[in-house]
Amino acid sequence: MTRIFAEPGSFVDDALAGLVLAHADELQRVDGGVIRRAPLAEGRVAVVVGGGSGHYPAFAGYVGPGIAAGAVCGNIFSSPSAAQAFRVASAVHAGGGVLFSYGNYAGDVIHFGKAEQLLRAEGIDTRTVLVTDDIASAPAEEAARRRGIAGDLCVFRIAGAAAERGDTLDEVERLAVAANERTRTIGVAFAGCTLPGADRPLFTVPEGMMSIGLGIHGEPGIRDVPLQRADELAHTLVGLLLDDRPDTRATRVAVVVNGLGTVKYEELFVLFRFVAAELDAAGLQMVAPLCGELVTSLDMAGASVTLLWLDDELEPLWLAPVQSPALRRGAPAQLSDVPVRGAESAPLVAPSGDPPRNREASAQSHQAAAVVVRLLTVAREAVDANVESLGALDSVAGDGDHGVGMARGLGAALRAARADVEGGGGVGSALESAGAAWSDEAGGTSGALWGAALESMGGVLETSSALDATAIADAVSAARASIERLGKATLGDKTMLDAIIPFEQALRGQISAGADLGASVSAAAAAATEAAAATARLRPRLGRARPLAEKSVGHPDPGATSFALIVSTIGEEQSWA
Ligand code: ADP
Ligand code: MG
Repeated sequence: MTRIFAEPGSFVDDALAGLVLAHADELQRVDGGVIRRAPLAEGRVAVVVGGGSGHYPAFAGYVGPGIAAGAVCGNIFSSPSAAQAFRVASAVHAGGGVLFSYGNYAGDVIHFGKAEQLLRAEGIDTRTVLVTDDIASAPAEEAARRRGIAGDLCVFRIAGAAAERGDTLDEVERLAVAANERTRTIGVAFAGCTLPGADRPLFTVPEGMMSIGLGIHGEPGIRDVPLQRADELAHTLVGLLLDDRPDTRATRVAVVVNGLGTVKYEELFVLFRFVAAELDAAGLQMVAPLCGELVTSLDMAGASVTLLWLDDELEPLWLAPVQSPALRRGAPAQLSDVPVRGAESAPLVAPSGDPPRNREASAQSHQAAAVVVRLLTVAREAVDANVESLGALDSVAGDGDHGVGMARGLGAALRAARADVEGGGGVGSALESAGAAWSDEAGGTSGALWGAALESMGGVLETSSALDATAIADAVSAARASIERLGKATLGDKTMLDAIIPFEQALRGQISAGADLGASVSAAAAAATEAAAATARLRPRLGRARPLAEKSVGHPDPGATSFALIVSTIGEEQSWA
């Protein structure tokens, strides 16, 4: 349970503000996250890490010389937006290019991917290395689909040490890839975590049991087994890691024994003692091991063990000096010798891809934009009334944030559309502003996809001044296509597309049969509702829920469910058609 908070909604901001105050000599707050206070030397690579919040010391605690130059900090368990990643990277880069590194989650991939494009468009060479260390989340043959957990730290550390040494972007990228390929983690959960302000945990573990293969966003483990003694537990975890050994010749390993939030340090040390014995028995030598809370999941009771299989080029980097709030090694740099940035934030460049706002719109288009605001209003009311149930659906196999994420996104979209309309905008620009705001403020996979969907609808409706049936059907098709392009899912993967595609088909069918727009939308919404319910029998093949596919069977997909809810509400709102 999270006991210390003011407004649950400002938990992340309050925590970051406190962190930067407590480490004022090392960290600086920028819009979107934190950066190191001592600027990078000219020409150095900027390693920028990030992800959702709730994982401290990941990510903001790993900012400093020898590790990340900046951390992009999203909402709790929710990926930061592309605009945030762009702003943090712009604030910190020093001419040597940017390396983004973060755990492999769909939402992060989409948002950081877009930030990468924006940075490249500004002439800043940018690369990405995804962390995929969690062996429970996909088999070895599909290692690229694995999610990133405590191994984040290993990859960030190698990349940051190489960047500090002055390696080129090519080299830093190559070494980060090598580190990721040689890092493996397995974890165990004893109890789930509770989002700030929520009254129950995202998952529970049955009494006397433990859950092997946890995620770090409140995703439950892959399988529940009876609790084990510490020596047996170490044997189980190290055994799983050795079965997945990437390099049979390597004999030296960096070890991270990690607490997820509410396992006492003494317990971690007990685990460490037996992990050390297991490694010794396997003929492996530990190099500069770490034991403590290093990548957490709010107040989750759990522990994980990570091995980074070292070689001659990775070992010196693992041992190189580092100075960050949560990780220190070697002689501390004389900070007084390092030029310190001014107290004011570095100037931030706005993303060049920002949609134009408030163009002169025709009266008809302006009127259509007002309808969009009305529809967003009713959609938001519907989602607000279902935040809990959507969250509960998402916590079956995901991270439980779908309700709050959708509510946040819709709230931002509504505010942006309203402002646009008040400034004289038409339907195209209102939707584009709404989409950009949704994606920026909600983060997460659904935020990125809904944001892009609205933006592309805006692009289509830009040229048509009225909300006529054909234009709307084309806008829906464009939205579906942009979701497919960004998320790379297809029908049957158990995502929102399983409701969107039937909606689109029914809508087109109705319109070509001559039904009026209002009736067409209502009929299509009914098809979407049915299709969303039918996702219950599917197994997720993408997104956060994929590693827990079995648990998801029997429950409908959260994103498909919220889509059906929104279009049903819009279908009932006949005044617009
Ligand atoms: P996150 O997964 O980042 O926590 P949400 O919980 O808000 O984001 O949204 C989860 C929903 O997003 C899923 O139920 C699914 O409908 C949708 N989704 C996830 N991945 C994809 C994808 N690749 N393509 C389309 N939709 C996706
Ligand atoms: Mg989620």
